[in-house]
Amino acid sequence: MSLHAQATRFMPWLTPRTVTGPTDEVVIVGAGLAGLSAAMRLAGAGRSVTVLEREDIPGGRAGQIQLQSDDGTYRIDTGPTVLTMPDLIADAFDCLGEKMEDWLELSPISPLYRAFYPDGSVLDVHSDVDEMAEEIASVIGPEEAAGYRRYVDFVSDLYKYEMNDFIDRNIDSPLDLLTPDLAKLVAIGGFRKLAPKVREYLKDPRTERVYSFQAMYAGLSPYDALAIYAVIAYMDSVAGVFFPKGGMHAVPQAMAAAAEKHGVKFRYGVTVESVETTGERATAVITTDGERITADAFVLNPDLPVAYRDLLGQDPWSIRRLDYSPSCYLLLAGSSASYSKIAHHNIHFGKSWKGVFDDLIDRQQLMSDPSLLVTNPSRSDPDLAPPGKEIYYVLFPTPNLDSPIDWNLTKDRYRDEVIRTLEERGYVGFGDAIEVENITTPKTGPTAAWNAALRSHPRTLSSRPGPSDRATYGGRTWSSPARVPSRA
Ligand SMILES: Cc1cc2nc3c(=O)[nH]c(=O)nc-3n(C[C@H](O)[C@H](O)[C@H](O)COP(=O)(O)OP(=O)(O)OC[C@H]3O[C@@H](n4cnc5c(N)ncnc54)[C@H](O)[C@@H]3O)c2cc1C
Repeated sequence: MSLHAQATRFMPWLTPRTVTGPTDEVVIVGAGLAGLSAAMRLAGAGRSVTVLEREDIPGGRAGQIQLQSDDGTYRIDTGPTVLTMPDLIADAFDCLGEKMEDWLELSPISPLYRAFYPDGSVLDVHSDVDEMAEEIASVIGPEEAAGYRRYVDFVSDLYKYEMNDFIDRNIDSPLDLLTPDLAKLVAIGGFRKLAPKVREYLKDPRTERVYSFQAMYAGLSPYDALAIYAVIAYMDSVAGVFFPKGGMHAVPQAMAAAAEKHGVKFRYGVTVESVETTGERATAVITTDGERITADAFVLNPDLPVAYRDLLGQDPWSIRRLDYSPSCYLLLAGSSASYSKIAHHNIHFGKSWKGVFDDLIDRQQLMSDPSLLVTNPSRSDPDLAPPGKEIYYVLFPTPNLDSPIDWNLTKDRYRDEVIRTLEERGYVGFGDAIEVENITTPKTGPTAAWNAALRSHPRTLSSRPGPSDRATYGGRTWSSPARVPSRA
């Protein structure tokens, strides 16, 4: 008998929490990327699926706004800009017997990122290892390029050991974590801190930054994150970054359309107020209009703390103990200016690096020496902007709502600071060239979709206690106590 089987015999609460009984009718609350993926998988497994979404469109945080100008319409993504691992999206289409290519036109982005440093140097990040080693050798030197090659071996091993056993897998009990790959991860130093681990391979602060900032995608400082988070560096900087024709919002639009073709029913403008449970099992959802919708199983796409608090009326310690990632200030601009020196994704590092995380996480204050992201999606898809115009998606990380910052007072002042910083970093005349704009702070969003975009999200693998309902960069998926039925 395996260790797992023995343990679950004596500790039945450790058994995999798979729905028992009928699972024919499934209701999914939320048409974010996770809800859509669940809908595609369940429909593909023969379930009858209904998706209830409070907004008028699918996508959740992966939304898009249209800003009108005298010259035409700007279509600007409001959430994710970095699309990695499209195979995972293809897999969801595959569950329906569909080919992703028939629904989505994806192109690789090259370079993946252009990194600008305070000493004036510029490093293009490529996914091709030889091309990148050449770039590092020419900008920094051959020894650093050799270290980069060893770093790629390290993150490739991380990916190999983490993907099947820990990432692409249901973890129903801590015992599920006990696999031979866990020992391999320990052996290669996966549970040491990320920043010093990266420095074992990359000695130059420029490469160190460009291959560790991805910890921020999980809401963590590279100084706090474990080295296993370097797997995110593999996912983008080694496996590549892509961009869909029509912008990132084309992804949820395509997923929803394919799901609908295969019988998934979408009901937009329907807000679920609560989940009705009988014992351990969810039996119905109640909408804000008082409608009661029954099903055999339910999938809740809102963030975990929100699902517990708002939909289940619960406040478990396991959720209370989590704390929250940093947030962001986002300036979306339609502009008449174009800048020849930038690429699709541009990271502008300040002089300080550890100080960025000290400011954002420990001191809970705005960055005194900002590092920031500028995405220029109209460079890859000019149809997103009126002819001859450009879109700039400018993201400044900020503290989350634990911070005492009063965003009502700070919003306009910080806009001036954002524009001044951009102009100092080479975006000459940025402020004057803005034709239309949209600003989102951690606290407020101009539209309900935006409020959804900045909902709370617990930092993963963090043990620091913290309150709930924080703004975020990131998202989680959660299936209700009546779990998603396994694939037929
Ligand atoms: C500014 C920003 C930039 C980002 N950049 C990146 C990036 O570059 N790359 C990346 O991979 N990720 C990025 N992310 C994170 C990424 O957007 C999210 O991880 C992902 O979109 C979350 O998807 P989800 O389905 O889990 O949640 P959500 O998108 O939040 O979906 C939840 C859905 O549930 C609906 N809903 C909630 N409550 C109810 C209710 N009571 N009744 C009915 N419907 C309800 C919501 O309207 C929403 O549609 C970014 C996020 C933000 C905000």
